[in-house]
Amino acid sequence: MPSAPLPKRNLGNMIFSEEEVEIEAIRLQNVIKQPMRWDIETCKVIAPLTLEINRLKKEKDVFLIAHSYQTPDIIYGVADSVADSYALSKEARDAPQQTILFSSVRFMAETAKIVSPHKTIIHPSPDAGCSLSESISAEDVKALKERYPDVPVVCYINTSASVKAECDVCVTSSNYLKICERLPGDKLIFVPDKFMGAHLQNELSGKKEVIVFDGECEVHAYFTGEKIRKWKREMHSQGMNLMVLSHPECDSEVLEESDIIGSSEILKDEALRLSSEGESNIMLITECGTADRVIAESDNDLNLVGACIMCPHMKKTHLEDILQALRNPDPRQIIEIDQNTILRANKSLDEMFRLAE
Ligand code: SF4
Repeated sequence: MPSAPLPKRNLGNMIFSEEEVEIEAIRLQNVIKQPMRWDIETCKVIAPLTLEINRLKKEKDVFLIAHSYQTPDIIYGVADSVADSYALSKEARDAPQQTILFSSVRFMAETAKIVSPHKTIIHPSPDAGCSLSESISAEDVKALKERYPDVPVVCYINTSASVKAECDVCVTSSNYLKICERLPGDKLIFVPDKFMGAHLQNELSGKKEVIVFDGECEVHAYFTGEKIRKWKREMHSQGMNLMVLSHPECDSEVLEESDIIGSSEILKDEALRLSSEGESNIMLITECGTADRVIAESDNDLNLVGACIMCPHMKKTHLEDILQALRNPDPRQIIEIDQNTILRANKSLDEMFRLAE
């Protein structure tokens, strides 16, 4: 579980010449590609931070990974790699560095520790939790197993290490349909996302019964089918087509209105593909970080329709937190998980790799 926020600290002076700051500010503005929100003055303010973080990363041989939902100054300013939680955990494991700084929420940093138990995993914001992962505890899973003995338990990757340790197999938003279809038997328990579970039940209708837990992501739960229909009507009345791309953590009414359903990485890649094929009106039904990445990585005209939602947990981490954690991490910023939990949680991840092949 996430802990209380750390007090903000005085980060001291960072000595860079005016020229170095100017060059870094221009680099930041060019890679973020949002000159209104990230104007040159803003970039000049953050430039000393990104310069110092990048210097320290090299000096201390730290691999810095950031989830897609982190802010653009982190993603394009200091991250060595950006992706979804599953891909990043594999990168953390395969990186030659022994110290990984994971800019994200707690369960993601825990997943990196599970797959790389011998590495030091630094998580700069120990209070950055997740409404979905915190909706379920290991005790809840044990109770479900008692109620439905011998029914396989599938957990979405957005869960704590202790929940993963109680489950038979872990899944991601990219592979949950494939893996659940391959499980033996005609019944399964799916935790914790009720929307993803409902989507799964629809897809497996007639083949398997899905017992679904009642958790949700507060960000994706916000979107409704009615809002999408309204935007579609408006665009169509102006003779324009609208492509709707949604994350499977949304409710079934939203997914029914969607042209593409997938993980944040898939949504980003599909938005880039669509815009390169001339489909410029795109609605991204997910956290705002995906839109920031599409803007930064697209070379085409793009009209992102509708409003995205920011995850308050993902946005807890700032460059200042990363710098402080790199300089002198507090014990609460180092992920520690007991060996037994790591072994059991790792089994559910290994089972995912086996079944996803
Ligand atoms: S977007 Fe949702 S699932 Fe992702 S960290 Fe935020 S609350 Fe959790």
